[in-house]
Amino acid sequence: MRAGIGSQVWSGIVSLVFPVRTTCWGCGGELAAQEPLFCLVCRQGFAAGLAGWDLTDDLIARAWAVGPYQGGLRRAVLAYKYSGKEYLAEPLGRLLAARLAGAVPGSCQVIPVPLHRTRRRQRGFNQAEALAQVLGKELRLPVRADILVRRQATRPLSTLNHDNRHQELRGAFHVAWPGLPGTPVLLVDDVVTSGATVHECAGVLRAAGYGPVYVATVCAVTDNCQRA
Ligand SMILES: [Zn+2]
Repeated sequence: MRAGIGSQVWSGIVSLVFPVRTTCWGCGGELAAQEPLFCLVCRQGFAAGLAGWDLTDDLIARAWAVGPYQGGLRRAVLAYKYSGKEYLAEPLGRLLAARLAGAVPGSCQVIPVPLHRTRRRQRGFNQAEALAQVLGKELRLPVRADILVRRQATRPLSTLNHDNRHQELRGAFHVAWPGLPGTPVLLVDDVVTSGATVHECAGVLRAAGYGPVYVATVCAVTDNCQRA
């Protein structure tokens, strides 16, 4: 009985520190215990929104996303990134881990897309790195935030057209630790919009000897999404 009261008090403290919503971010329905942010129905609906989304090319071996950048998933990522809800890294990272489980090689190094230090200081944390940490823990893969460095701050890519995006990113990333040839890497970001950033990172990593390069993101902007 005492243990029961103790655990209730403890979960009360935990919920004060980490205010866990018990309703689905998508439909507002009740969540079962341990369900991260979205109910099963909403999670199953993500696949339809990702139909036709594919980043695979000569630089990226395969890419995964939890869902499209819309609705509740978009709201959750925006809250995570801009509203100080850093604790959302845990459930968002778990959703991403569930998406990838068993699909990535066990020898992968997990590499977050880096933020420039000025941006990191403004935001207080690198949202991609916090997701990578959860992903690494869930999938038991090593996380290396020191391999890829951002040496230039870039303008928001959403303001630029396709050619200017690539121009803006050229030289923005640098590999601080050359890889052993054939070391697979899993590049992690919170949102992939045009794919220009992850392609630039993949190119720099491949040139330094890493590869194959896989990409994992919470949200993908697909043709089904309303462009923000
Ligand atoms: Zn739902």
